Amino acid sequence: MDHINIWKKTKSVLKDRLPTHAFETWFEPIKPLEVNGPQLVLQVPNQFFSEWVDLHYRKHILSTLEGLGDGPKEIKYVISTEKIGPLERTTDNIAVKSNPKKTLPPYLSTGYTFSAFIEGPNNQFAKAAAQAVAKSPGEQSFNPLVIYGGVGLGKTHLLHAIGNEIVITAPKLRIVIASSEKFTLDFISSIQKNRTAEFSKSYRNADVLLIDDIQFFQKKEQTQEQFFHTFNELYQLGRQIVMTADRYPGEMSGLQDRLLSRFQSGLSVDVQPPNYETRVAILMEKAEKNSLELPYNVIEFIATHIKNNVRDLESTIIRLLAHASLSQVDIDFPLVKKVLKERLGDTVSADISAEDIISRVADLTNVRADDIVGPSRRKEIAEARQLSVYLCRELLGLSLATIGMHFGGRDHTTALYSCKKVQTTLKTDKRFNRIVGTIKDDLSFAIL
Ligand code: ADP
Ligand code: MG
Repeated sequence: MDHINIWKKTKSVLKDRLPTHAFETWFEPIKPLEVNGPQLVLQVPNQFFSEWVDLHYRKHILSTLEGLGDGPKEIKYVISTEKIGPLERTTDNIAVKSNPKKTLPPYLSTGYTFSAFIEGPNNQFAKAAAQAVAKSPGEQSFNPLVIYGGVGLGKTHLLHAIGNEIVITAPKLRIVIASSEKFTLDFISSIQKNRTAEFSKSYRNADVLLIDDIQFFQKKEQTQEQFFHTFNELYQLGRQIVMTADRYPGEMSGLQDRLLSRFQSGLSVDVQPPNYETRVAILMEKAEKNSLELPYNVIEFIATHIKNNVRDLESTIIRLLAHASLSQVDIDFPLVKKVLKERLGDTVSADISAEDIISRVADLTNVRADDIVGPSRRKEIAEARQLSVYLCRELLGLSLATIGMHFGGRDHTTALYSCKKVQTTLKTDKRFNRIVGTIKDDLSFAIL
């Protein structure tokens, strides 16, 4: 049996054994790559995914494999941005679909496209430059293009997006994409194996050379020398070069001056951390991509607390998905808080509860907490109660039924009525609006 059939059989067994949600979340995205000796090699979307599957489903997979007889007995995970053979790439790549004979450059991540890249003021210019380069590679003014900025802000994504675009629009062009680390390792191993000519050829054949993380070249004299020659040769032939770096090239130490001045001879564009609106848009896109339905207030909440790094936004979504699928719970506020706490660690203080909200409202309105949850219909008490109910819904995301229970066993229609009442007053009464804003700020700050 080949890897595809082995995996098909394994999946059909597991599908019956695991909850549907878990199966769909964790098994549908896996692609079998090959059988290598005793190992079945599986491609997974990211590191977290492989850890999760390994931790929770390893036993299931292994026992199923065993049941299939003489096949592989171990599992190896490969992250999809790592090298995978050209044949395995066929399923979700448009270029390959439209032209089955076309093989993709190794190391190109097909998911990193321009359409999956959310644009905001922080990255607009970088995206526009990358798109211009993809449209007409080799044009002098954008050559080389250097995209620089902090960790997790989309540099690698843009680099691969250029590759993915050119694969479709100019399939004849040879694209070579590599991290500078890979360039270095290739170079070193070519020396060891006396194959430097082959090494040079593989890089100098490129029509488009895409090199990720050039800061890795710092202090590697001999590799820089090699890269300098590769760079010059390609540049003189009018080939496009795009590089990414963790800082402005001019600020890199440990690079030869002549290399630096080459890097700076084209265009350097930066990517900055996303602003609030962009973070919300990114979260919505990632949630949709993962078929995850997130209430808007949850998205806002995450966007408020994770600010500097798109990778963290993304992994929060993946973790939410993981928790929800494992414990089969809906994604609600308490779960989101739990996940954010895991991420943000000690900077997060204790939870607030419905009781905390009630006592805060009691303080501010001079109504006793006992009265707020009690039966009295006096106007100021009823208003304080309605406000507390509304805040429990907004800040804690509690269900109406649960809220009703906190308020002396009222039913959910009463809770719903309170929320609506407060929302209406908020629209018309500016002073009330300000008070609620202050309480919300106070309390939501306490949540984290
Ligand atoms: P960098 O190379 O700058 O460290 P990456 O390109 O690896 O960052 O981005 C980290 C993750 O965040 C990737 O999964 C990428 O797809 C995602 N990402 C970054 N910026 C955006 C964006 N503007 N829109 C959508 N996804 C993004
Ligand atoms: Mg990167």
